[in-house]
Formats: sequence, structure tokens, C-alpha cells
Amino acid sequence: MKDQRFLVTGASRGIGRAIAVQLASQGAKVAGLATSHENLEETARAVQDAGGTFLSLAGDISLPETAASAVGQVLEKWGGVDGLIANAGITRDGLLMRMSADDFEQVVATNLGGSFHLLKAVTRPMMKQRFGRVVLIGSVVASIGNPGQANYCAAKAGLHGLARSAALELGSRGITVNVVAPGFIATDMTSALTEEQQGAMTEKIALQRAGTPEDVAGVVQFLLSPEGGYITGQVLLVDGGLSLG
Ligand code: NAP
Repeated sequence: MKDQRFLVTGASRGIGRAIAVQLASQGAKVAGLATSHENLEETARAVQDAGGTFLSLAGDISLPETAASAVGQVLEKWGGVDGLIANAGITRDGLLMRMSADDFEQVVATNLGGSFHLLKAVTRPMMKQRFGRVVLIGSVVASIGNPGQANYCAAKAGLHGLARSAALELGSRGITVNVVAPGFIATDMTSALTEEQQGAMTEKIALQRAGTPEDVAGVVQFLLSPEGGYITGQVLLVDGGLSLG
């Protein structure tokens, strides 16, 4: 992966930062996007310490112009883009009967819309290169549902159709598109849960522990590597057995 060029969204924290650092440890060039440059400062240091090169990109990924500008900056700086990891995501939890249209739309616009805008923006340069690796970060709840997360589950389930269709459209150009669907991973997103809720969740996991961002990053790296090159249009669950029931 030395000198390969990757764009990772949601790179300021959690799973996105772990992916950025993992790729950097292989000598990759990593462009990381978050809502502000300030939020990316720690990731920039970690990527450089791990041996990679970092490009900081800021913007709101729910807006199409953010994706176009981010991919444009990567192309201008590095002349191409070998991999996209669409990881930025948000939750706005609430029971369906009380969920506002705004909470539904924001979650869909960020998690699903953001991935669509990014995938569209990398399609042309990757087709020209006749090579590309795309990983969309979904969630196990897209397959099993979760009370209080109808918006989030709908958005993440949409990624499955997006990835499968894109895999069929782009396969002949050497581009793979997959979804990595994490289970319960210890990050800022899940730290909002009470200790009791976290304990109840851990009990449902076959491996009896929450995942780490690094557990997810290793699988993402595999799909981006030559060894993962014959996998496309798939949803790969990284959930410690949570979905087994
Ligand atoms: P996190 O710690 O909450 O980090 C979210 C990241 O997304 C941050 O880098 C944030 O940037 C960025 N982001 C949020 N909204 C954005 C926007 N509109 N534009 C640009 N960037 C935005 O989340 P995480 O737990 O690492 O989750 C990463 C991905 O994994 C998400 O897609 C999430 O749905 C998925 N996932 C997580 C879990 C879990 O248990 N943690 C489980 C399944 C799936 P700022 O720092 O600038 O806000």
C-alpha cells in the first residue's frame, strides 16, 4: 500500500482515525475529512507518527459540494485516488412516533447521502485509472434493526443497495465496492450510552466484549489490499457475533 492514495471521511475520531492510522502504517497517503481542520489535528499527528502523509480536508459531507471539493483536492495534490473509505456518520436516536422529519433527513443525508456524493465523486478518476477500492461503513443494525434508530437503520441499509449497484456498474473497470458493517464499537458514538446499556449490549455479543476501532480498521485494510481484490458488492459484518442473536 506504499504511496497509495486514500480518502477517509470521519477521520478525526473513532473508527475513521483508526483506519487512517492503519493505512499510514503501511506507508499510504491519507486524506482525512471531518467537519473542521481543528478536529483533524490529532489524527494528522498520529498519521505522521505512523509513517504516512496526511492531507486535512474540512466540510459537511451531507452536501454534494463537499465531496466534489474533497476529491478535487486529493486529485490536485496526488494526481489520483486509489481508495475511498466513506466512514463519516451521525445518529439522532428517538422512537419512530416522536422522530422529527429533520432528524430522519439529517441522518439519511449524512450517512447515506454523504456516501453517495463521495462515491459519485471518485467514480470518474477511478474509472480513468481502471482501479479503485471503495469501502462504505455501514452498521450491523441495518440487517437486524434497532428500536430508536429507524432513521439510522434506514440510512445504513441504503448503503447495501448503493454498494451492490455500484459494484455491478464499476466492476469491469477494476473497481470494488463493499460495505463493512461494525457491531458495537467503543467510540464517542457509543460512549453516550449508560454503563448499564453498554453492559446489556456486551452480553449480546458472542465474543463478550465491545469491538475496538482497530478491529474494524484491520478488516477495512484487508478489503483495500491486493488480497481483498476479488471481493465486491458484499456486506462484511465485523460485530463479534452480535447479529447471531
Ligand atoms: P464518531 O466517533 O462519532 O465519529 C464520527 C466521525 O464522523 C467524526 O470524524 C466526525 O467529524 C465525522 N462527521 C460526522 N458528521 C459529519 C459531517 N456532516 N461531515 C463530515 N464529517 C462528519 O463515530 P464512530 O463510532 O467512529 O463511527 C464511524 C462510522 O462507523 C459511522 O458511520 C458509524 O455510523 C459507524 N458505526 C459505528 C458503530 C459504533 O459502535 N461506534 C457501529 C456501527 C457503525 P467531527 O469530529 O468533525 O465531528
